[in-house]
Amino acid sequence: MKSHREMLRDIQREVGITRRWIGKESLSGRVMEAVKAVPRHEFVPDEQRPYAYDNAPLVIGCGQTISQPYIVALMTDLLDPKPEDIILEVGTGSGYQAAILSRLVKKVYTIEVIEELAQQAEARLERLGYTNVEVQTADGYFGWPEQAPFDGIMVTAAAPSIPEPLIEQLKPEARLVLPLGAGFQQELRVVTKKENNEIDTQRVLGVSFVPLTGEHSSR
Ligand code: SAM
Repeated sequence: MKSHREMLRDIQREVGITRRWIGKESLSGRVMEAVKAVPRHEFVPDEQRPYAYDNAPLVIGCGQTISQPYIVALMTDLLDPKPEDIILEVGTGSGYQAAILSRLVKKVYTIEVIEELAQQAEARLERLGYTNVEVQTADGYFGWPEQAPFDGIMVTAAAPSIPEPLIEQLKPEARLVLPLGAGFQQELRVVTKKENNEIDTQRVLGVSFVPLTGEHSSR
């Protein structure tokens, strides 16, 4: 059984291995502090607890997963969260990514399409004291227009194309971090909305996420 500290080392090691693709030797200290502070074992089912600090995705029920810690840390770093930011996450899952974001920003809105997971994550986040996170059951393709615009948006399920409503709900110069692709392998992308509403896309790394389901699903 790995310790939390070993997981942090494994994340740093994988950052080193992938430095050519991700364009950095290390992740932000603030992000790593947040990963250090959030107890991942609280976000996995009992039978997965022995593996909670493995640098690997784990099943959380309803056919879904909690993402690999390295990918969670990398996507958080790529979002470049600031203390005053209002962030939207699509794909709450266990609530782990939302908990990490909540330590870095002012407010996190997170959307989960599976009601059972949304309810569990909401109860878990409340029990653990993450008071600046709001969970909604909905199809995240459409974002959360009532709370927009956002300082950043993270999608933690693979979209076949960039969801237009999410671009609309970004502030100018804000980033959307998402796995993009229709198959089982996708590309992690950082999409930046420019002042003129055009977008800039940076390709980061090959990844493998569960698909975005709902009206705009590719599978
Ligand atoms: N961020 C999560 C965590 O920290 O545990 C892991 C996310 S898991 C890889 C992807 C999640 O996206 C699943 O819980 C899935 O149900 C959800 N999802 C898939 N399609 C969605 C959609 N259209 N809207 C909202 N959530 C969606």
